Amino acid sequence: MRVSWSKGELTFRLGADDEITGRAADDHPVKLATNSCSVAGVPEKAHPDLFAVAAWTVVAPWTRKEIVFDRAISPEVAAALHDGWGIEAGPVGAEARPAGANLAISYSGGADSVAAAAIYPDAPFVHFRRVPHPRVPNRWSHYRSDVLARLARRTGRDLTIVDSDLEFTLSEPRPGYPEHHAVAVGALLVADQMNLGGLAFGYELGSRWLGGDRYLLRYTPDNLMWAPHGAWGRLFAAAGVHIVLPVGGVSEAVTMRLALNSDLKDHVRWCLQGTDGPCRTCGKCLYKELIQAAVERRPLDTPFTADDPRVRKWLQPPPYGGQEMVEYGLARVPGIENTLFGKALEYFDATEESTSWLDHCYPPAIEEIPEPWREGTATFMSSKVGLMTEDEVRRVETWGAA
Ligand SMILES: [Zn+2]
Repeated sequence: MRVSWSKGELTFRLGADDEITGRAADDHPVKLATNSCSVAGVPEKAHPDLFAVAAWTVVAPWTRKEIVFDRAISPEVAAALHDGWGIEAGPVGAEARPAGANLAISYSGGADSVAAAAIYPDAPFVHFRRVPHPRVPNRWSHYRSDVLARLARRTGRDLTIVDSDLEFTLSEPRPGYPEHHAVAVGALLVADQMNLGGLAFGYELGSRWLGGDRYLLRYTPDNLMWAPHGAWGRLFAAAGVHIVLPVGGVSEAVTMRLALNSDLKDHVRWCLQGTDGPCRTCGKCLYKELIQAAVERRPLDTPFTADDPRVRKWLQPPPYGGQEMVEYGLARVPGIENTLFGKALEYFDATEESTSWLDHCYPPAIEEIPEPWREGTATFMSSKVGLMTEDEVRRVETWGAA
């Protein structure tokens, strides 16, 4: 793999060993659509490791044996690529970038990132905005990246919006980030300008410790994507931008509650389809409605009924993505037995007591936050959320083992 940056345009050329079908770090198969993309607002000068790590978030799934950058990288970043992926990276010859003093938040506008923002009220936002690619037709015009950017602007926070078409480098399964970390390209490239030493993401307990989305039902202390000692954590740290997960110890019920109680509550939006509000009819809206109804202790409010083919998965036995939150909702939403989730009740013995661990913070998640930002998180979690008891900690650490 050979990559080069020119005025915000990233071009990459596959080598003989590389392939256009690959797997992202979460093992999801992805297919390449085109070999260039652009990122707006990239400074002329930034540390070469920042350019290298930003490029790696796009080209990692296609790279098999080696990568050649257009400028020399530090031995630290080369080692992180070697140890994490078995990739020979070069040329090597730059001094490592020391971590900066500041923390920025990779802000999507969803409940999880709003909750992360509530913990650090002074941290600036960097928001990734999808824009069309000049050579790839946009078959996904219902995806309202413009709406999300407008909501981010209304928060009044110090905000950098980074426009990029990098999601169109994927043809399958659909346009999207080649690696989850590609959302950070903009923040990486402006990390020198903003003196960043950390970048906070809204990944919560499920994504960090319970295997999240595409992995199911498995306690994942060594999560390759989000653990500080995982391949990605070490690579970002080598470039002086630590991955920080302020809400890594709490569930989506807690992030929902924190978001809805925060100053930013009017700007929360997890749905990528609605213009004046969430669409209410996508899978994500349904899942988040279950959580919100549980948090607000009210009946489910959704246009979906049990005979809708789009909700078929909830009539099937588990596992479900975000299963811990499904159990939490089943145990708490009044009248849930008369909704489309009624069938799922048969598969669980969920009670408020058996799901109470999802209302508290898992302490090891605080311990892995880099030192400059750890104490603020610890204080926030102790006072606003509460830490898990030993029994509750055991629920996390035996998740999926039963
Ligand atoms: Zn929706």
